Amino acid sequence: MKISKVVVDRKTCIGSATCVVIAPDAFELDSEKISTVTDNALKIDEETLLRAAKSCPVQAISVFDEDGNRIFPVSK
Ligand code: SF4
Repeated sequence: MKISKVVVDRKTCIGSATCVVIAPDAFELDSEKISTVTDNALKIDEETLLRAAKSCPVQAISVFDEDGNRIFPVSK
């Protein structure tokens, strides 16, 4: 698996900062206390990225593979 894109849905994020705690190199809270994806996000290990996405209480973080398929959250 190769993660090629990480997106935070700003409308869904509630600023809990869980993702920032788990992957501080990949996520940071902006001035509005909304998580943003850093330029280094794709440089950290994929397991941590995925763990951060899964930790989000409102599933605001989407992770895509190199084919553009969403790895998480899994579509229903
Ligand atoms: S864990 Fe989810 S809700 Fe919390 S800051 Fe990160 S993206 Fe936002």
